[in-house]
Amino acid sequence: MPAGSHRFQVGTLCCTVLSDGYVDHPTSWYFPDAGRLELERALQSHGLPQERVLCPYTCLLVETGRHVVLADTGLGTASSTSGAILARLEMAGIRRQDVDTVIFTHAHPDHLGGAVDMRNPRAPLPMFPNASYVMSETEWGFWTADRVDLHGLRLGGDVKADMQSTARRCLRVLRHQVELIDRETEIVPGLRALAAPGHTPGHLALLLASEGRQMLHLGDAAVHPLHLEHPEWQNGFDLLPDRALATRRALLERAAAEEMRVMAFHFPFPSVGRVAARAEGGWEWTPGW
Ligand SMILES: [Zn+2]
Repeated sequence: MPAGSHRFQVGTLCCTVLSDGYVDHPTSWYFPDAGRLELERALQSHGLPQERVLCPYTCLLVETGRHVVLADTGLGTASSTSGAILARLEMAGIRRQDVDTVIFTHAHPDHLGGAVDMRNPRAPLPMFPNASYVMSETEWGFWTADRVDLHGLRLGGDVKADMQSTARRCLRVLRHQVELIDRETEIVPGLRALAAPGHTPGHLALLLASEGRQMLHLGDAAVHPLHLEHPEWQNGFDLLPDRALATRRALLERAAAEEMRVMAFHFPFPSVGRVAARAEGGWEWTPGW
C-alpha cells in the first residue's frame, strides 16, 4: 500500500485507513486546563514539541463485499496540507462513484469538508454522488438550527465561525442524500454507530465486529493520545466537556475490557492501536495493528 494508507481485516471486513492530511494547532487548544508543568513533562516524555500539535486526519474505508463505506471525509482542499482523500481512495482502487455510504462521526470541518466538491464554488456538489450520508439526527439539528451555540468550545472566535459556516454549507449541499439516525444503528452488516456525545451533541463512535474480531472507532472522543493517559484533561474542541469526558471513559473502558482494536481520527497515523488500563489511572496507547 502507498504511504498514507494502511490495510487490515476485522474478520471479513476489509478496512483501510487513509490519510487526508494534517494540520497543526497550538498545544493549548488540546489541553486548555492541564497544569503547565505536568503537560510539559508529558509532552517531553513522548518526544513531542511543546508549542504545537501536529494533528493528522485519518479516514476509514470499510469494504464489506457488498458495501463501500467511508467514515469521515477529511477537511478537503480548504488547507494546503489536507485534501488527499480522493487520491488515497484511488490508490486503494476506489473511485468516488463506488462509495455507497459515507458516515460522519460529527459535522466538524475536518470530518465533512471533503464530502463536498467545491471545484465550482457557485455550484458545489456531493463529492460521492452515489452515497447516502449517514449522521446523527441530533448533530444535523444542532448545526442547521437558526442559532448554533458554540460557547462551550475553548477556541478562538474565527475557529468557531469557520466550524459553523462549513457545517451549514456542506450539509446544505448534501441535504438530499442525508440519512439521519436517532439511536444505535447497524449501518451496514458488521458496522454499528453508537451515540458518543460530548465532543459535539450528536457525535458518533463506530463499532466494527466480524467473526469475533472487533474494532472501536472513537471518532473524536479522544483527539490526542495524552487524553488517554490523562483522561481528566479537557480538550478545547469538546463542546460539552463533562459529557465528553464521560463518553471517553465509557468507550475506553469497553475497548480495554473487550480487548478491542481502537481507532481515533486524530491519533498519529495509522491511527489504530490498542488501549490498556494503567495502574496509575487512565489508559496506555500502543499504536499499530
Ligand atoms: Zn476532528
